[in-house]
Amino acid sequence: MYSQGVNHVPQRLTLRYEGKAKKVYNTSSPDLYIVEFKDDATAFNAQKRGTIANKGVVNNAVTACLLSYLEAHGVPTHLVAQLSEREQLVKAVTIIPVEVVVRNLAAGSFAKRYGVDEGLPLQPPVLEWCLKSDALQDPPMNDDTAVALGLATPEQLDELRALSRRVNALLSDFFAARRLRLIDFKLEFGLTATGQLLLADEISPDTCRLWDAQTGEKLDKDRFRRDLGRVEEAYQEVLRRVMEG
Ligand code: UDP
Repeated sequence: MYSQGVNHVPQRLTLRYEGKAKKVYNTSSPDLYIVEFKDDATAFNAQKRGTIANKGVVNNAVTACLLSYLEAHGVPTHLVAQLSEREQLVKAVTIIPVEVVVRNLAAGSFAKRYGVDEGLPLQPPVLEWCLKSDALQDPPMNDDTAVALGLATPEQLDELRALSRRVNALLSDFFAARRLRLIDFKLEFGLTATGQLLLADEISPDTCRLWDAQTGEKLDKDRFRRDLGRVEEAYQEVLRRVMEG
């Protein structure tokens, strides 16, 4: 039922990489990986650790749904198919170590850094680059820094910017139709062996802030970060709404 449209599912082979929330496996096909979503949760650069029951199942389903929606609207992604409750088949990419954060309303580290209230609308939506490095706590950087450090070319940054703004418009509409406000989120991109730029990683309540449009209730990882309670329920509620219509 999961891998509809995929003629041949390659065999899962050796573990390639284990991150905080996911494992990535090599497969019998060199240009495909299998990603497995875990229940492990970390916050504040892994200083806070825990598990969120069934988070992996939710994040796998939510990511698969959102990446297919984006792909159908012209955003190239690494998703090939959802394989099971916790696994998806993806195109093999090398992740560009530039995390893209997009913000529609002030929250989290942005609100703190600039001394503004959470919920302040940001126009235009703010796009930030951060170096993907847990050891350095993902420091923000500008274009010159990313280019001078050899992380991306100016042309790649232009493409990342255009794609991320497009993803923001598409996801904001998608969530609004499901009574959720997309406050901010983080994207990662990768390059295939032939140099194709693809949206990769995940899009889930771990990587997005989502507030109920009516009540403002937080339905994302801030419930875990800030000990707000009802963490599992919030993830399940996002899954329910994403799967609507
Ligand atoms: N984010 C993420 N991974 C990171 C850093 C941020 O997925 O390593 C997401 C986070 O969930 C939020 C957005 O990016 O939706 C902006 O996060 P922020 O910079 O405010 O950091 P935080 O407050 O989470 O420390």
